[in-house]
Amino acid sequence: MSDCIFCNIIAGEIPSKKIYEDDDMLAFHDISPQAPVHFLVIPKKHIPNVMEAKPEDALLLGKLLHKAQTLLAEQGCAEKGGRFVVNCKSDGMQTVEHIHLHVFGGRSLGWPPG
Ligand code: 5GP
Ligand code: ZN
Repeated sequence: MSDCIFCNIIAGEIPSKKIYEDDDMLAFHDISPQAPVHFLVIPKKHIPNVMEAKPEDALLLGKLLHKAQTLLAEQGCAEKGGRFVVNCKSDGMQTVEHIHLHVFGGRSLGWPPG
């Protein structure tokens, strides 16, 4: 979608600090990191949010989560872990309408979220 920031990042029209890319997904550092490690993993397919994901997206979304695990470990967080977050629509404070997995690590994170 031409008006989607993350589709434009996928297309290379907006620069990003890429961590990983394959045919299905892209991972890149968040522009406004909230932890020492904070990156996003997104599908190349434009899915607006979790509520609009289809049954046929299940494998793709599972691949995202598994790749996020690998990438977080590569960032030095295998032992202490981190947090995997998917904000959804207005109550979830989603600001970019292209489904994305936030991955945080490198510090102890508070719970519950505000
Ligand atoms: P949301 O609030 O939708 O869950 O998260 C969107 C995230 O995308 C935010 O953490 C924000 O900092 C990040 N973001 C928004 N625009 C850009 C951008 O152009 N480049 C990068 N790398 N991150 C972005
Ligand atoms: Zn998009």
